Amino acid sequence: MRVVMKFGGTSVGSADAVRQVCGIVGDARGIHQAVVVVSAMNAPDLRTTDVLIAAAKAAAAGDGDAMARVAPQLLDLHMRAAYDLCSPAEVELLEPQLRTMFAYISDLARSIAVLGELTPRALDLFSGQGERCNARLIAAALRSAGIPAEAVDATELIVTDEHYGNAAPQMDATRQRTFARLLPLIEQGVVPVVTGFIGASHSGVLTTLGRGGSDYSCAILGAVLNADEVWFWKEVDGVMSANPKVVPEARTLDRLSYSEMAELAYYGANVLHPKTVLPLVQLRIPIRIRNTFNPQHPGTLIAESIAPGTAKAVTAIKISA
Ligand code: ASP
Ligand code: MG
Repeated sequence: MRVVMKFGGTSVGSADAVRQVCGIVGDARGIHQAVVVVSAMNAPDLRTTDVLIAAAKAAAAGDGDAMARVAPQLLDLHMRAAYDLCSPAEVELLEPQLRTMFAYISDLARSIAVLGELTPRALDLFSGQGERCNARLIAAALRSAGIPAEAVDATELIVTDEHYGNAAPQMDATRQRTFARLLPLIEQGVVPVVTGFIGASHSGVLTTLGRGGSDYSCAILGAVLNADEVWFWKEVDGVMSANPKVVPEARTLDRLSYSEMAELAYYGANVLHPKTVLPLVQLRIPIRIRNTFNPQHPGTLIAESIAPGTAKAVTAIKISA
């Protein structure tokens, strides 16, 4: 089976979390062809994408050193995980790559401060770096665990329009590039570790797919690769029958149809956004929501409905008076 799977920011937020991810990917690769998509690292006190965006905005407001001040913290976040999980040889390869990336955006921030203007195109260059760092870290951690892996920037795969900050994919061009770049890796048993959130315009300029866009990246790649299933690894066992904060006896649902998922999302439940997974729904590719921190749990399967059923879940939108 070919499986494209995505790990969200908290699923890759610490060395322990990345260790879990390596275990999951290692197990999956034993049975399936696996493609991995990763978000930027989200530690409880350091959410990479938020920090990058805040520093870019501070630069535009005149604080040219804002990025250079946060860069060591971000480097440290990634390298602490690397020291924990990677072989010395991998650490030695990774560190200069991350340093170069942070030096580049620190310089860029100084220029932005001089110009006093941050275009959406320039902002994408900053905000997309978290995924680039993390794909390299996770590929290095996988290799150190004996799993052949290669970091791939989605700028090489996902072709988008030029709507910076909220770009739309062009599926035919994306399919061609993704086939050419990823199929040889997959066939050799190498796990591609692809950056979520980013793509590139036809002329090669980095774009982003909108905040939280890594789910979209995963769906796009699942669709163009014609995956048998697409798995979204999150911090919950799956979609719940109700909000557990309101309904204590809420439970995880085994199965939902695409339209039930869309309805739940429409009425405020915290599930995958329908627009995000449209490329998968159109091709009727089954989706699973699974828990990185409880991988034995089968999660919730979202697929075509098998039989008209009864109500599966309730959700509510709070209207304040
Ligand atoms: N890192 C990006 C964000 O925080 C994309 C994602 O997490 O899906 O918006
Ligand atoms: Mg994120």
